[in-house]
Amino acid sequence: MDHPALLERIAAEVAPLVGTGTPAGYIPALAGVDPRSFGMAVATLDGTVHGVGDWRVPFSTQSITKVFTLALVLAHGGDSVWERVGREPSGNPFNSLVQLEYENGIPRNPFINAGALVVTDRLQTWTGDASSELLEFLRRESGNPDLAFDPDVAGSESDHGDRNAALAHFMASYGNISNPVPTLLDHYFWQCSITASCADLALAARFLARHGLLADGSRLLTRSEAKQVNAVMLTCGTYDAAGEFAYRVGLPGKSGVGGGIVAVVPGHGTLCVWSPGLDERGNSVAGVAALDRFTTLTGLSVF
Ligand code: GLN
Repeated sequence: MDHPALLERIAAEVAPLVGTGTPAGYIPALAGVDPRSFGMAVATLDGTVHGVGDWRVPFSTQSITKVFTLALVLAHGGDSVWERVGREPSGNPFNSLVQLEYENGIPRNPFINAGALVVTDRLQTWTGDASSELLEFLRRESGNPDLAFDPDVAGSESDHGDRNAALAHFMASYGNISNPVPTLLDHYFWQCSITASCADLALAARFLARHGLLADGSRLLTRSEAKQVNAVMLTCGTYDAAGEFAYRVGLPGKSGVGGGIVAVVPGHGTLCVWSPGLDERGNSVAGVAALDRFTTLTGLSVF
């Protein structure tokens, strides 16, 4: 497949949407990003990566990191994490509190904020330094040693982190958080603040297309676990828009409020798209459209 020509075509087709939507305003450090940015990268299983537009420009990964922390926790502890977090779509916004009380402090899935806090809590217990473990993993798998935390974004999230603090304290009251809540929140905010480009993220996510195998050929996840992570991405990775995303794109995908989305074509490769303008559910408007065009034009989807 001629990826460069395909990506140019997609970029031209979605250009009218770039700049529409709204960059995340509730994290002030994200509000300053150029809304006209657009980048897209495709990585094949062997690590060849092609891109278009701003595909090498680092952006705030935000909730995309939730996929990687889940994979690391499964790799460390196997299935035990599923005693503390579910795997059903929430049908609610990613930062909603409402289901947690009805469901006794067990979040619906690992990709809403409450679920990700539980997963990061597990990683913190196992490693003693969850956010550094994640950063090292992303550096290794992307081959980019310059990936870094963004202290301004982490600080901004912390300064405006009342909702996440409420989620964490509420779950702690049910005994579903093991570490001190302030420590957990720090690691969660640092994790969300990691900056990486479309190229970096497409490369780092390849283990999900390679049925659990890392870049060096060693195994992070069993084939079955890789299938499970992809399945949860498909059903929960774009929050209360996961049904619409599956309908339009037909791939496992994980979005973040920085405007990035990572998508996986199991057995073929990975995609990452970035454009900061978000729809009302927190997913990149031009990003979803670009992935929709990719699967429509290539016929590559899980369906
Ligand atoms: N850091 C963001 C938050 O906690 C992540 C949300 C997202 O990307 N959907 O609200």
